[in-house]
Amino acid sequence: MPERSCIACREKRPKVELIRLVCNASVVEIDPKGKKAGRGVYLCPTRECWETGLKSNRLEYALRTKLTLENRQSLLEYGRRLPEKGECRVE
Ligand SMILES: [Zn+2]
Repeated sequence: MPERSCIACREKRPKVELIRLVCNASVVEIDPKGKKAGRGVYLCPTRECWETGLKSNRLEYALRTKLTLENRQSLLEYGRRLPEKGECRVE
């Protein structure tokens, strides 16, 4: 089982338990299937990790890109729909 680490909490988890983000033409997109081409990073499916990853600019650093305000907002929006850490369940 391939493992990846979350860029926010740096915990290692099986790839399937993390959400992949890719940078495609300077836009950071969520890649639920983990198949899109491009530089990718991983985040836990928890609100906490999304906020940490986005607010600390770790995401931008890891993807070597600069998020537009709009792009950041849409990713934060996605993060807000995720459960808080601890409530996280893998389906
Ligand atoms: Zn995490």
